[in-house]
Amino acid sequence: MAEIGPLQCAKCGACTVVCPVFQATGRESLSARGRLHLLERLDPAQASDAYAEILSQCLLCGACRAVCSRGLDPPARFIAARQQLEKTAGGQVLLRAITRKALSNPTLLTTIASLGRPLLDRLPADSGLRLRLGLPQARNILTPALPETPKGKSAPPTLAYFPGCYATHLHRKIGEATERIATAFTGNPPLSPKQQSCCGLAAENGGDTSTAKRLAKQNINAFAGNSLPILTSCASCYSQLRRYPELLANDPKWQAKAQAFADRLLEFSTFVTQAMEADPAFRFASQPTPRTVFYHDPCHLRFPSQITTPPRKILRTIPGLSLTELPNGPQCCGQGGLFHLAQPELAKNIRGRLLNQVKQTTPDLVTTTCSGCLIHIQQGLGDEPARPEVRHLAILLAELL
Ligand code: SF4
Ligand code: SF4
Repeated sequence: MAEIGPLQCAKCGACTVVCPVFQATGRESLSARGRLHLLERLDPAQASDAYAEILSQCLLCGACRAVCSRGLDPPARFIAARQQLEKTAGGQVLLRAITRKALSNPTLLTTIASLGRPLLDRLPADSGLRLRLGLPQARNILTPALPETPKGKSAPPTLAYFPGCYATHLHRKIGEATERIATAFTGNPPLSPKQQSCCGLAAENGGDTSTAKRLAKQNINAFAGNSLPILTSCASCYSQLRRYPELLANDPKWQAKAQAFADRLLEFSTFVTQAMEADPAFRFASQPTPRTVFYHDPCHLRFPSQITTPPRKILRTIPGLSLTELPNGPQCCGQGGLFHLAQPELAKNIRGRLLNQVKQTTPDLVTTTCSGCLIHIQQGLGDEPARPEVRHLAILLAELL
């Protein structure tokens, strides 16, 4: 039997137990083990449509990486293969394929239509939300809709804020709620630099690494004017911003800057937990009527940074709220950045498995800190009259200040 190298898959199967796609399909070729097997044997230079399809059927959720017995990073290998695919197929083949699929997805088209043209026109050309919603590229890059500097305050801010595309352009209430909470704890609204852009997650996941790098550099520059901690209110953006040192690892000019930027990042629920610990007298107000709340763990927080305790800790302090959990622990919602566009049926299937379990815990409210999960869960619950409310954690907390 051939010896297994340190960077080779041992075929142990630990990843199949946690892979949402494998659980939904039962197909070995769609597990991390199956895809790695394919990558070891087939050069992306000889890629076929079927190969691209298998590569696009991964959520890049990171569950396999967290349990891999060989310490492998399968999602990083799949992203690299997607990038290779882009090069060999003449650029953006995966993104084009995804956009084509998006345009034939009636649920997505209904969602886009419901957002309204003026709102969609406000999305900058580089926004990953354009990719996530299957929108065409826009010509103009607009500045963030949130004010850059705090108004009517004399003391300088003690926090900077990266709202991300969704909280900046489509659901400003998230950005405003985050600012209110930051202000409540620090005394001043955070600074939101004008030149910041999309985090680049959608571009990188689609194999367009050069755009992801350009956006990373733009964001590093945007926040370079101060050394304040950088608050983030979207789990997906946070996980991508943390990746900048890795993304720019081969660029000597940017390496140290990327690391300094990443060291300043402060995830929303971690910030609130730390602020509450620093001020033991602080209390969020009671819920007017007792309610049950379900917190959905975004994969982007659960796996790369293992931030699962802070949101629960915060919710448990709120009088009138009781927290429910799924019997088998947290589960992926199936959104996965571009995944829900590339694989709408599979994404729906994975979401259905989650929501069936969530409904059994009969929550009044579902909350999370990821814009992608939020949209996807809202769509999944539809307009059922008895559906639980779905709210970003920042909005929920800001109402209880
Ligand atoms: S990243 Fe997630 S979806 Fe992709 S192979 Fe790993 S566990 Fe499965
Ligand atoms: S857990 Fe790691 S080593 Fe085991 S089958 Fe999956 S990818 Fe291969």
